[in-house]
Amino acid sequence: MKKRFETRAIREQAARSEHREHSVPVYLTSSFTFDSAEHGQALFAGETEGNVYSRYSNPNTDEFVRKICLLEEVEDGLATASGMAAVYVSLAGLLNSGDHIIAARAVFGSTHQILTRILPRWNISHTYVDISRPESWEDAVRPQTRMLFLESPSNPGLELIDLEFAGTFARRHNLILNVDNCFATPYLQRPAEYGADLVIHSATKFIDGQGRTLGGVVAGKPELIEQLRFFARHTGPALSPFNAWVLSKSLETLTVRMERHCENALKLATFLDQHPKVTGVRYPFLPSHPQYDLARRQMTLGGGVLVFDFDGGFDAARRFIDRLQMLSISSNLGDTRTIVTHPASTTHSKLTEEERRAAGITPGLVRISAGLEHIDDIIADVEQALM
Ligand SMILES: *Cc1c(COP(=O)(O)O)cnc(C)c1O
Repeated sequence: MKKRFETRAIREQAARSEHREHSVPVYLTSSFTFDSAEHGQALFAGETEGNVYSRYSNPNTDEFVRKICLLEEVEDGLATASGMAAVYVSLAGLLNSGDHIIAARAVFGSTHQILTRILPRWNISHTYVDISRPESWEDAVRPQTRMLFLESPSNPGLELIDLEFAGTFARRHNLILNVDNCFATPYLQRPAEYGADLVIHSATKFIDGQGRTLGGVVAGKPELIEQLRFFARHTGPALSPFNAWVLSKSLETLTVRMERHCENALKLATFLDQHPKVTGVRYPFLPSHPQYDLARRQMTLGGGVLVFDFDGGFDAARRFIDRLQMLSISSNLGDTRTIVTHPASTTHSKLTEEERRAAGITPGLVRISAGLEHIDDIIADVEQALM
């Protein structure tokens, strides 16, 4: 019988060494030895399996990737040094000059920079589509379109994309469906179930979950991952074995952490929704979310991130942040510690005002990544900062 999600996350392990260790050790080695000249030749020719060099593979990165594949329910994957390396490899490793990408308008800030400032230098173009009007996506398709790049829930607007619709759309137009699943994690949502060919994670966020290390992964169809592996092997965005070890151990607690993140986020969103000083509270599992039904359909829980707005705009948002006593003011998310971010002046400050407006980032928008502290302490700090 297929093991349950948390069991897979805990029990998948690299083979034990002669020491019969229970917890997998860190393989801090840049290279591996060959039994003979012939063995070395066979490894390089791909005629036999085995580790050669940690830029290509390593027991720790392999274990981390195997776990992600088991959790996302896909066949193959590749670990990278950061989430952005995963995004970059998934684009540059597959696309050719002349190709075109359709992307959701509200993608992560650096993904936006890759699409608008870097790929055009190699004649790879893009069209942003409005995720709230999927019927308009048809107009964006060109003969050169090869990929549909999506993020759901979006950062920071927490808009959802109907993944079933996206899967059907990508199949109909023969597009590679590439989904950044960072906000949801495989515990809440598995895009491959809807036909995603590639699933990307910034493991820096909820997968590590403790704000310690950068990391990323691309997982999906073996024929695509094979091309990405070739690209990564020769361009070098490899994840360090130590970070892979940290991330692999983190996956063992992903389920319990996500359940608490989501419980705290929902309680905080409910509190804010009733507070007279804030407006526009958005959280996928809050019944007032415009896509609440879709969220219930495609996500197990609502995630760890919520946003809200101030009528007083930029100044009101900054005043709230400066009054916080316990919560962290930072740009990260998915940590044990609750983090408050002002996207317009930090994570999305490189966008033009026009681009920010299109992505739904108003001057008063505040994003909170609910941590694992006691919910009463989180709410108490938010409440006193709103006084
Ligand atoms: C943080 C993030 C990334 C980038 O990941 P890094 O690990 O910081 O490189 C990509 N996509 C989303 C949705 C993110 O939140």
